[in-house]
Amino acid sequence: PVDRLAEIQEARLKLPVLAEEQVIMEAVRENPCIVICGETGSGKTTQVPQFLYEAGYASGIIGITEPRRVAAVSMSHRVAEEMNLSTRVVSYQIRYEGNMTSDTKIKFMTDGVLLKEIQKDFLLQRYSVIIIDEAHERSVYTDILIGLLSRIVPLRNKKGLPMKLLVMSATLRVEDFTDNAKMFRTPPPVIKVDARQFPVTIHFNKRTSMDDYTGDVFQKICKIHRMLPPGGILVFLTGQAEVHSLCRKLRNAFPFRKDEEAETSEAMRKFKKSKKKNAVSLPRINLDNYSALPLDEGDEDREAGIGDEQDEGSDLEIGGDSEKADPSIPLYVLPLYSLLAPEQQAKVFRPPPPGTRLCVVATNVAETSLTIPGIKYVVDCGRVKKRFYDRVTGVSSFKVSWTSQASANQRAGRAGRTEPGHCYRLYSSAVFGDFSLFSEAEITRRPVEDLVLQMKDLNIDKVVNFPFPTSPSAEALVAAEQLLVSLGALMEPCLERKMERARLSCPISPLGRAMASFPVAPRYAKMLALGKQQDCLPYVIAVVAAMTVREIFEDFDRPAISEDESSTLIQRRARLIQMRRLWAGQGASLLLGDLMVMLGAVGACEYAGCTPKFCEANGLRYKAMVEIRKLRGQLTNAVNAVCPEVGVFVNPKMAPPTPHQVICLRQIVLAGLGDHLARRVQAEDLLDPKWKNGYKTPLLDDPVFIHPGSALFKTLPEFIVYQEILETTKMYMRGVSAVEAE
Ligand code: ADP
Ligand code: MG
Repeated sequence: PVDRLAEIQEARLKLPVLAEEQVIMEAVRENPCIVICGETGSGKTTQVPQFLYEAGYASGIIGITEPRRVAAVSMSHRVAEEMNLSTRVVSYQIRYEGNMTSDTKIKFMTDGVLLKEIQKDFLLQRYSVIIIDEAHERSVYTDILIGLLSRIVPLRNKKGLPMKLLVMSATLRVEDFTDNAKMFRTPPPVIKVDARQFPVTIHFNKRTSMDDYTGDVFQKICKIHRMLPPGGILVFLTGQAEVHSLCRKLRNAFPFRKDEEAETSEAMRKFKKSKKKNAVSLPRINLDNYSALPLDEGDEDREAGIGDEQDEGSDLEIGGDSEKADPSIPLYVLPLYSLLAPEQQAKVFRPPPPGTRLCVVATNVAETSLTIPGIKYVVDCGRVKKRFYDRVTGVSSFKVSWTSQASANQRAGRAGRTEPGHCYRLYSSAVFGDFSLFSEAEITRRPVEDLVLQMKDLNIDKVVNFPFPTSPSAEALVAAEQLLVSLGALMEPCLERKMERARLSCPISPLGRAMASFPVAPRYAKMLALGKQQDCLPYVIAVVAAMTVREIFEDFDRPAISEDESSTLIQRRARLIQMRRLWAGQGASLLLGDLMVMLGAVGACEYAGCTPKFCEANGLRYKAMVEIRKLRGQLTNAVNAVCPEVGVFVNPKMAPPTPHQVICLRQIVLAGLGDHLARRVQAEDLLDPKWKNGYKTPLLDDPVFIHPGSALFKTLPEFIVYQEILETTKMYMRGVSAVEAE
């Protein structure tokens, strides 16, 4: 029996999902799996766990997964409060933090946490129900979880330990889960919750500003605040740095001072400071920085650290404050993003101080995960920060791009929860028409060799048979498996089974387990796994970090913008060439080629304290060097977690490798890049004079070349390995290193 406060009960009864309680619970009773669709704010996340609890499903734990940490934490608090239960009973668990007890009955967690638990107990015997929330987001871990649970639920029923699965989505686009015979032989019933949505008027901009959208956002908020009737404003931006600078700008324009506010910004300053300090001092072991299996437990959590610091400050001035604000109307400005402390996040749910207007500046965590009361105006920049993967290098990066029509409509919907609202889209209707209809499932945009390795680490041997809601292509899976076998991450298929599908069901090896825990592409993970030999680890870490970050050198070959610049460019170019020669070392090091140049550059830059000045003077891209520094810290932690006895640390005064170590390094590099082997075209094969100095690779018919900028351009070793091939005027190999031909 749940004893709720009267006011809570009253608020609950207004939620659309309450009207469907009977229907939902009947469907749960009669089916092992069901799907619930309902608009954001209809009450799915807060109410459905309560229905289950009250209907007696808490014999085991009722688990709810969220793609974002912020939702897991705040929803657990909200549900505890609504049910008048302690957080001992309604708890949460995110990667390194949680308040679970032996009394826990309802548990909110990130999807990554549940995946890890499946690794420990495939049948999830502690749970009586699993709810997968925000399934429409199609995050890789949510997709894989639904696939896994489609197997686990029937297994549990067979064992006489029945378990229920509920999949919840904010959109009606659920066919990938329901019309998918591979997952569910009988399609699970779909229950639709009608939302009481007030009309939202959409206002498009006539023109679309391509770069200064944060400036446009600022102007728009000023206008709304000064000219339109009361009602909260919700602003969608792409990342934490943008959120911060807009908050500061708005607070300056519409001062609202209260001690509490000062406290907030103080806490925020401290938080930023500590974050920065971490990045600089490269702690020896910081498990918070370590990302093994759940590689990206919510993209948003990672957004925070990447490419953000640089944008600070400059953003502040954006937009040229031509709009002189009226300081007499207080605007109560609150930031909202994943890494914000829960106490700060909770503020958005409370009514703003009397006589003020609420303005929440958010990342897309407010798109579907959280519903903020009292929002009447939505300002949408139309963009989202997403992770992109480079198929060639395996590098992932965050880029700001247009969102999808479905997302933009979700954002607009936030304005019509309590009364009719308005959504201001800071882009034209023509641009909106060009948005993709839906965001693609993340799994189709990702290279799969790392995904396959992660799944094998979950002991899913037959990845092709895995019931993906949306499967990567068969070719992609086969290629991934072959690469992993060749790297030794998977066991070789045994001879008599070598044919057919055996090739696609190789189990993971102990080496593969270690590789799976490094947050880089498998080729580079292999190098890390081997690196501890001969004291090579610090060098391997530095080289892998440098190879993973693109374009560490400045490009001086570009056309000059002026006569003046042209002579500077020539000078700087000459300086870089000279430095590259220096970094390439002498004697034995030369054969490590471009990788030695990278290693030398990283070493020299760190030695000099990684300053913008040093980078500028020596032709290095400062931003790239900062990224390499962060990655070195992260990889160092990851390696220490796998093999603590090596106790590797980041040494800013790292000495160059000895000739002996260079030889080992070349072997390690070859072990990782073995499928990127090329051999110089032999005299008898010189069919065409253009092939002179060319190299043959196993996969390409035409020869490829060493770039004139490469350290090995003149040496032309017989065998080499390369990092990638880039087609410009010719097919050039990049990141070339010589292989000993014996
Ligand atoms: P859904 O999951 O369908 O999007 P939710 O269950 O998250 O809906 O939200 C239902 C309602 O509960 C919303 O109207 C929201 O404003 C309210 N709510 C959610 N969390 C809190 C909170 N921490 N404090 C106050 N109200 C909240
Ligand atoms: Mg929800």
